[in-house]
Amino acid sequence: MCDLIGSALRAMSGDAGISRRDLLRATGTAVAASALGTAVASCSATPSTASTTATASAPAARTRLVLLGTTGGPTILDPARAGTSTAVVHDGGVHLVDLGFSAHQRLVAAGLGGGGWGNGFGNLRSILFTHMHSDHVTEWPAIYSVASTNIAGRLHDRPIEVFGPGDRGSLPRVFPAGRTVGEPINPEDPTPGIVAMTGYLRRAWAGDFNDRLRNSSFRDPTAVFSVHDIDVSTVWAGIDPEGIPPRLTEPIPVWTDGAVRITATLVDHHPTAPAFGFRFDTPDGSIVVSGDTCPSENLIDLARGADYLVHEVIDPLFVEELVKQLPAEQADPLRTHLLESHTTIDQVGPVAEAARVGTLVLSHLAPAHNPPERWLEAQKGFSGRLIVGADLMQLPVGQDS
Ligand SMILES: [Zn+2]
Ligand SMILES: [Zn+2]
Repeated sequence: MCDLIGSALRAMSGDAGISRRDLLRATGTAVAASALGTAVASCSATPSTASTTATASAPAARTRLVLLGTTGGPTILDPARAGTSTAVVHDGGVHLVDLGFSAHQRLVAAGLGGGGWGNGFGNLRSILFTHMHSDHVTEWPAIYSVASTNIAGRLHDRPIEVFGPGDRGSLPRVFPAGRTVGEPINPEDPTPGIVAMTGYLRRAWAGDFNDRLRNSSFRDPTAVFSVHDIDVSTVWAGIDPEGIPPRLTEPIPVWTDGAVRITATLVDHHPTAPAFGFRFDTPDGSIVVSGDTCPSENLIDLARGADYLVHEVIDPLFVEELVKQLPAEQADPLRTHLLESHTTIDQVGPVAEAARVGTLVLSHLAPAHNPPERWLEAQKGFSGRLIVGADLMQLPVGQDS
């Protein structure tokens, strides 16, 4: 047995307070694959081994949580992990939260792609973006560009609903104060939201789109996607440069089809704003996805009593290693952002405990290549079940969860 797997198993049966047998039995191989994901991949000649293991054992529950990508940040540190992207599946319909790198490929690998030529997005009901950072939206241009050729055989005519932040309306503060920065990029529209971004994409891909519209009868992407900025004007009138959201008294309604109800809250990823966490309520149970945030009371409210909380996490030791390589003027702002606008290993357990969720699933792992035993330290302060996310892990919601 590989040393990494052995050490992960020892960590699981020791410090984490979970027996190896319990872990393997609790939710099947998927849990073991999750906790061992990095270790299995590191011991394998093929980086997809962990993902394959998780998929092969996936239960086909009516409602389930599927982790498509579990990397935090825009850097590929572990080829076994794609960029952050999470799917919620109910009754065959697929809802995606964020599109990190390789999300399209992971969608198909997870068996959620609709099947067959021209029906790649046949099951897709909605796409939700937590915020506009590149590691969360980088696959949107790719998916938008191939939409018409993945929708030709779509089994129903409803557009795919897309929701995300609107135009922020103000640039974030310069940090440290007084530092000289150049003119804003795209000064006439320096903080576009998801609707504006999509407009730019439509223009950028005009050559391909016009070619296919005129010669191949494919559809205009505006007929494939219905794109919306999530309106926060009633709860946050004028987003200031600090970007620290107000305390909300109730969630923001986003979308429902009667069976699945999606709501949002404002999380704290300052100075980036607005940033959302999303909750999915289904007849079988509930799933909450944190997006990028420091410990957030709004998120705790949103997640209260949920079956699953998928939460981002960052290792402060990684932050120190990272900034060591940078000049001071770059290191200080980056260290501040990473530690003040994300949730550390020590902080994430108490968040899940306060929300009284059933299972805490760690995703958006920063760094993606951390040894799994390090992530298991997040069990401190949380009395529920902890799962370290791995790509293509499928977790049932409801009776089998
Ligand atoms: Zn991120
Ligand atoms: Zn972010």
